Amino acid sequence: MAVKRLQNFINGEWVDASTDKFAEIINPARGTLLSEVPMSTKADVDAAVKAAQDAYPDWRNTPPVARARYLHRLIELLEDNFNELSIVQTTEHGKTIDESRGETRRGIEMLEVASGIPSLMQGYNLEDIAHGIDEYAINQPLGVFCCIAPFNFPFMVPLWFLPFAIACGNTFVVKSSPRTPMSQAALFKLLEEVDLPPGVVNLVNGANEAAEALMDNPQVKGVTFVGSTPVGRHIYRKCGETGKRVIAQAGAKNYVVIMPDAVLEEATMVSLLASFFGNAGQRCLSGSNLLVVGDDAAYKRFMDRFVEGASKISVGDGLDESVQMGPVQNAESKQRIIGVIEKGIVEGAKLTLDGRELHLVGDVPETCFLNPSIFENVTPDMSLAREEIFGPVASVVRAKDLDEAIDIIHDNPYGNASSIFTNNGKWSRQFQHDVNTGNIGINIGIVAPMSFFPFGGRKDSFFGTLHGQGRDVIRFFTDPKIVITRWF
Ligand code: NAD
Repeated sequence: MAVKRLQNFINGEWVDASTDKFAEIINPARGTLLSEVPMSTKADVDAAVKAAQDAYPDWRNTPPVARARYLHRLIELLEDNFNELSIVQTTEHGKTIDESRGETRRGIEMLEVASGIPSLMQGYNLEDIAHGIDEYAINQPLGVFCCIAPFNFPFMVPLWFLPFAIACGNTFVVKSSPRTPMSQAALFKLLEEVDLPPGVVNLVNGANEAAEALMDNPQVKGVTFVGSTPVGRHIYRKCGETGKRVIAQAGAKNYVVIMPDAVLEEATMVSLLASFFGNAGQRCLSGSNLLVVGDDAAYKRFMDRFVEGASKISVGDGLDESVQMGPVQNAESKQRIIGVIEKGIVEGAKLTLDGRELHLVGDVPETCFLNPSIFENVTPDMSLAREEIFGPVASVVRAKDLDEAIDIIHDNPYGNASSIFTNNGKWSRQFQHDVNTGNIGINIGIVAPMSFFPFGGRKDSFFGTLHGQGRDVIRFFTDPKIVITRWF
């Protein structure tokens, strides 16, 4: 049977990319070929941007309440196809079906919030700024925006931006991840049914050439990016040169602090294990470093339960409902993570739980699978503690008190998220106030902010000013026009 070749969606139509370069999309749990994704060229990207630019004048003049109706229609279609969309994510990415359902739900929530645009987009005014003179601010859209997406949340991440952008009256181009493009293809099949005017939303498959072409195109007014820190930094710099707006959400190395008085209930352990090993550790909001504060007894009390819980996580094909952790997304990721584990051993950390020893549920090829790993005796200067691993590996660091724990967190170049587990209000308050990360959890693992709050991120985890989601993203996708009036 011929393998399905993905197409681009430009100006309301599915079209072939103008390239003879394709990459294979392999199901990481089964090793089967799912599809081929084209590496679109600059010409493909320019066609998508032109379609978006041509659609912009009419779309910005469509009343916000009418623009919101398209989002309502899309929400209905997403609900009707909820399970199928989730299966696509699991099949191309490897995460469990439950994690994919969570991703689909989060995507829908973005649309639900964005459909409140008639209220969210309102400006403000003041009568009599001087005698008989009034002033007001009108929030206006800017034109064409785009999203350069990562592989790890292939359905949801473009929805952090697309619904808000078009609700504000802009038009949009998604460049999907070349590693997991099928979830966006599935989303755009439903967007096609919504019958938006041609060109309002466009999808281009591809890799670096397509991303660079989006940034090079003068008609693109702003770029949203989610991905690794080196690429985020490059995108921020390049867009700065041409004055494009940028939201660049980048890599992470998140700390979870366990204080000696932490309540270690079942719910705590479930939340912690999900933080570290959910999505096989491939999340910018994964726990990565565990910082255990206190004496040897407190340390042992916690670690015994954490190691036992991690060793019991069932690993296999994410479509199997009993499985708690799927494979990593491809064979190269697995080899890279094994390299990190080997380096950690050489640096002197103790590998308490070795996820290279596979215990898998069902008859699956071993190519992309790892079980959870836990390193103890990690010091903050080791690469295990400093570098993003993006795999199911937890590094355990110890600190004598909260002050030392906060110093260790601050010594790390990243600033995406951190959590503390304690029953002490003063420690919680100090953690929330002092820790320089964009997201904070108190007695909760590293969790993602809801669609109606901005997605935090600081230091090497974020480049830009306004963040994705919430009120920030409405400001990002609009510009306030100031009008001052006097009538004689
Ligand atoms: P990546 O940086 O390799 O790729 C992201 C996107 O950038 C892809 O679309 C890719 O095609 C494009 N790209 C890659 N190299 C490029 C280049 N040189 N020039 C232009 N474009 C380029 O990231 P990934 O491996 O797909 O995703 C994992 C990373 O994303 C991790 O670092 C993770 O922490 C991060 N992430 C961050 C957040 C957040 O909100 N902060 C959320 C999810 C993922």
